[in-house]
Amino acid sequence: MAIIINGKELAKKIRLYLKSEVDKLKNNGINPKLAVIMVGDDKASKVYVKNKSRACEEIGIEYEEFLMEENTSMDQLLNLIENLNNRKDIHGILLQSPVPEHLDINQAFKKIDYRKDVDGFNPINVGKLSIGEDCFISCTPFGVVKMLEEYNIEVQGKNVVIIGRSNIVGKPLIQCMLKKNGTVTVCHSKTKDIKEITSKADILIAALGKAKFVTQDMVKDGAVIIDVGINRNEEGKLVGDVDFENVEKKASYITPVPGGVGPMTIAMLMTNVVKAAKNMNIRK
Ligand code: NAP
Repeated sequence: MAIIINGKELAKKIRLYLKSEVDKLKNNGINPKLAVIMVGDDKASKVYVKNKSRACEEIGIEYEEFLMEENTSMDQLLNLIENLNNRKDIHGILLQSPVPEHLDINQAFKKIDYRKDVDGFNPINVGKLSIGEDCFISCTPFGVVKMLEEYNIEVQGKNVVIIGRSNIVGKPLIQCMLKKNGTVTVCHSKTKDIKEITSKADILIAALGKAKFVTQDMVKDGAVIIDVGINRNEEGKLVGDVDFENVEKKASYITPVPGGVGPMTIAMLMTNVVKAAKNMNIRK
């Protein structure tokens, strides 16, 4: 039976630590503040935004929401970002995805001041991550790194297989795992014979968005399994990309869904906001 990596508990511990950091900042006259921009009316986004505002409240981070109409123009969005870039009281800016199709989200990410880019999507942060400089790391990969560290799971010299190559999860994970001296292989929808590759993984990270894609026969004995996926099964229940019940029997460590990577993502967003506030203070 595998050890369950408890993301919920770890996220709680991180939030507690951040609360004490925020208290210290406040004692020095700095009120960390996050601005969240949401364009349109996406139901799932509303839930995510609500969760982020709750986490801010718990830690003592100030929070301001900017809700824009579905028919917002690119200029209007860029103008808002410009205003937030210039506001001294705002330390972090987050643009909730998805945005309506007529908007270019990458152009918007580029516009966010990289020093306030707490999601780590601005190409400056993406580039800094790839050359190993201090930067904001995309919150989900950052959460995965933290989980491995917290459970003392060594990455150096290990075969790390990542399924998925999105800009927000898979690609930054490649850099994070390389930095830890893992030997990294990436699979995607055009990869042939995935099982052949995954069965050699010491650490397998599933981030593709297909319920129970990773089955027991795809996994090596004693592998560490990180499940990033969030899917709904036929009964509407949240499930990951891994067939947890069966894979757990073979793995050494495994993350559950829910209660694994999900809560860590928000905790790392909060970590990035606190870092942005500290950095801004140093720049003053
Ligand atoms: P995405 O942008 O849709 O990317 C999915 C990736 O998986 C793509 O690279 C795609 O390959 C690959 N893929 C799709 N089907 C595949 C298959 N059958 N075999 C191999 N690779 C396949 O998704 P994402 O935004 O990275 O999210 C991935 C999952 O993580 C989703 O379930 C999402 O809900 C979840 N997620 C969770 C958190 C969290 O906080 N826990 C945060 C973000 C995302 P191609 O590039 O070839 O198309």
